[in-house]
Amino acid sequence: MTESSTHSAGVAILGSTGSIGCNSLRVIESLTTSRMRVVALAAGSNVERLADQIAAHLPEVVSVDTEAAAHDLRAMLFARDIDLPRIVTGEAGLVEVATHPDADCVISATVGAVGFLPTLKALEMGKRVALANKETLVMAGELMTQAARNSGAELLPVDSEHNALHQCLRGERREEVRRIILTASGGPFRTRNKAEMELASVSEAMQHPTWNMGAKITIDSATLMNKGLEVIEAHWLFGFGPDEIDILVHPESVVHSMIEMVDGSVIAQMGVTDMRHAIQYALTFPERHSCQLPPLDLTAVSGLHFETPDLDRFPCIALAYRALREGGTLPAAMNAANEEAVSAFINERIRLTEIPQIIETVMDQHSNQPVKDIQTILEADHQARLAACAAIAALAHKEAQTAQKI
Ligand code: MG
Repeated sequence: MTESSTHSAGVAILGSTGSIGCNSLRVIESLTTSRMRVVALAAGSNVERLADQIAAHLPEVVSVDTEAAAHDLRAMLFARDIDLPRIVTGEAGLVEVATHPDADCVISATVGAVGFLPTLKALEMGKRVALANKETLVMAGELMTQAARNSGAELLPVDSEHNALHQCLRGERREEVRRIILTASGGPFRTRNKAEMELASVSEAMQHPTWNMGAKITIDSATLMNKGLEVIEAHWLFGFGPDEIDILVHPESVVHSMIEMVDGSVIAQMGVTDMRHAIQYALTFPERHSCQLPPLDLTAVSGLHFETPDLDRFPCIALAYRALREGGTLPAAMNAANEEAVSAFINERIRLTEIPQIIETVMDQHSNQPVKDIQTILEADHQARLAACAAIAALAHKEAQTAQKI
C-alpha cells in the first residue's frame, strides 16, 4: 500500500452505501497522493446509490442482500447503460467481496453482526482491514485478533475513538501506558433526567449532537451502549484490561480519545468531527497524506468539558464492562440482545429505557461458554436473539395491557 506512485492499492468496501461506505469513497476520490482502486463493493438494498457508485468506480464484483435487489440493480444498470459487474448476493456475496484477490484493504462498514464472517475471512487472508464495524470485535474479538496475528493482517480502527488511540499509541511502549480514556459525546440525553428518557421518542433519540451517522449507532449513542461496545473494542485492539479503560463524557467531541502514561502525562488526539479523517488514516497508514478537509480551528471552540458518565441513567455501560470481565460468549450475547432491542425501539415496540433491561435479562439467562470457534459465537448470537425477542414480546404485551386498563 505504501508504493503510492507505482502501485494502486485495491480496496473492497463492505457496506458501501452507508455513512462510512460513502465517506470512504469520497476519501478514495480525494486522495491525490496515494492511488487507490475500488475492486469490490457490498451493499444492502439501496441499489440506486450502489448504481451511482458502480458508474463512478467500476468495481469488478458487487454484492447485494437478496436476489430481488440483484434483479433491480441489473435493470437499473442496463437502463443507464453501465457495464455490469459480477453481481453476487447474501452472506456468500459479502465474503466474495471481502476476499477479492485484488483487494489489499477491506473497509468493514456493515452494521451489526452481518459483517462478522466476511471480516474474519479477510483477516484470515492477510488483508488489511479498516474496521468500522465494532460489533464484529465485540462478538468475536479473540477469533478476529488471532486470525490477524496468524496471517499478519493489519487491523486498523476507523471508529474515531480507536483511531485516535491508535495515533496516540504510535511509538509508545505498552508498559509505559497506564490507561486509555475513551471520550463520549454523551448523546442527546446527556442533560435529561430519567423520566424524560423514559418518554423519549425515536426522533429525539436520533438527534445526535456532534456526529451524523446511521440509525443503529445513533441509538447506541443515545443509550451510551456505543461507548460500552467501544470499551470491548478497545480491549481487543490494544490489549488493555477493563480496569485500564475509562470513559469520559466530552460534549464538544474535539478530543477523540487519549492515553495516560505511567508518569501522568496525557496524550490526546484532536480533530474535526468528520469520519473521513479516520478513514484516510486507516487507508494510508503508516503514511500521512494531505487532506482536503479544513483543519481543526481551536479558536472557534468555546471550551473543552469533561465529566464522568452517569451509570445510573446509562446502565448499558456497566453491562458492557460486565460482558468484558466475564468474557466467553457473553459479549456476543450482549451484542445480539442490543441489536434486537435497538431495532424494537426504532419500530416503537419498546421504550428507550427498556433497551438495557432487555439486554440485562438476556445476559442473566445466557449460559456462558468459552469461545472455541465461529460456531460457538454464532450459536450464542442466535440464542441471545431468541431470548431478546421473547423479552421484547413480554414487555410489549405488558404495555398493551396497561394501555387497556387506562
Ligand atoms: Mg466511536
